[in-house]
Amino acid sequence: MSDAPLLEVRDLRTWFELRQWGFLRVGSVRAVDGVSFELARGEAVAFVGESGCGKSSLARTLLGLHRPSGGEVVFEGQDVAGLAGAALKRYRARVGYVQQDPYGALPPFMNVRRLLAEPLIVHGVMDRAERERRIRAVLEEVRLAPEEVLHKFPHMLSGGQQQRVVIARALILAPHLIIADEPVSMLDASVRVEILSLLRQIQRERELTLAFITHDLATVRHFAERLFVMYAGRIVEQAPVDELLDHPLHPYTQALLAAIADPDADNASRQREIPPGEPPSLVKPPAGCRFHPRCPHAIAGHCDRDEPPMLAPRPGHGVACWLHE
Ligand code: SF4
Repeated sequence: MSDAPLLEVRDLRTWFELRQWGFLRVGSVRAVDGVSFELARGEAVAFVGESGCGKSSLARTLLGLHRPSGGEVVFEGQDVAGLAGAALKRYRARVGYVQQDPYGALPPFMNVRRLLAEPLIVHGVMDRAERERRIRAVLEEVRLAPEEVLHKFPHMLSGGQQQRVVIARALILAPHLIIADEPVSMLDASVRVEILSLLRQIQRERELTLAFITHDLATVRHFAERLFVMYAGRIVEQAPVDELLDHPLHPYTQALLAAIADPDADNASRQREIPPGEPPSLVKPPAGCRFHPRCPHAIAGHCDRDEPPMLAPRPGHGVACWLHE
C-alpha cells in the first residue's frame, strides 16, 4: 500500500453567496474557510463541532456536491476541485457517502435490488448476473439477508435496516474513502452502536479510509483514530483521538468535553465552565481568533486582533490558540 496520503486538503474554502432580489450580491457565508489536513489510507477519522461549524459543508465539498471557492482537494494525487462530467463521475465512484437520514437518502419507489443495481448500471456494470452477485455480497457484508430484503421498499425496512442499505449502496462501487455524515443521529439509541461498529468493522476489513462527521464527542473514541475539531469554518484542534480527549488544549474543545453529560457529581461543576453564547456569524466572522467572543481565556488586544496559526505544543497535536505559543 502506498504511503502517500489518500486525500490532501489545502486551504479549502467553500463560500456561499448571499443575494438580495436574486441578483445583488450582499455577502458570503464562509461555511468552510481555510481548512487543511491529510487523510492516510486505511485510517478512521472524525470531524466534530457544533451544528453550523462547517463540517457538513466540508463533507459535501469533498464529495463534489459543492464546488470549492478556493484551495485544493487532492485525491490519490489528482486535484478534484474542478472536476466535471465523466471525471467527476469516476471520482464519485471512489468516494462513498453515508447520509444522516437513511429514509430521505433512499428513493421510496425503488426496492433494495434496484437501489443497489442503479449505481452499478450508472458506472457500466451491465451484466445482470454480475450485478446480482455484487448486490448479494454487499448485503451480506452489512449483515442483511438478501432473500429477506431484496424485494422490499424503504418504508418496509426498520431505521437500522435502511441505514444498512445506505451503507451497502455507499460500498457497492468499492470506494477508497467513505464519508459518513452523522450516520446514526436519526436512529434509535438501541441500533446506534451496532451501525457505528459495523462501519468500523467494514473499514478495517476493506482497509478503507473512513471520515465521520459528528457532534458526538462521547462515542468518538471508539470509532475514530484521529480527531479534528471544527469551529466557525476552521479546524481549531487536531490529534490522535486518545491524545486529544485526554489532553484537550483548545478552550473550545475543553468546553465541548465539559458539555458531555457526566453522571459523576464531582464533574457537575464543569458544566458551569461552558462559555456562554452562540457560534459567530459566518458572514462576518470575528477578527482574530473566531472563538474570542466566547473564550474565558481571551487575551485582550491579541486574540481579538491576530488569528492564531496551527501550533504544535505536543507531538502530533495541533491547536490554533495563542495560549500555546
Ligand atoms: Fe481563547 Fe485566545 Fe486561544 Fe482563541 S486564541 S481560544 S481567544 S485564548
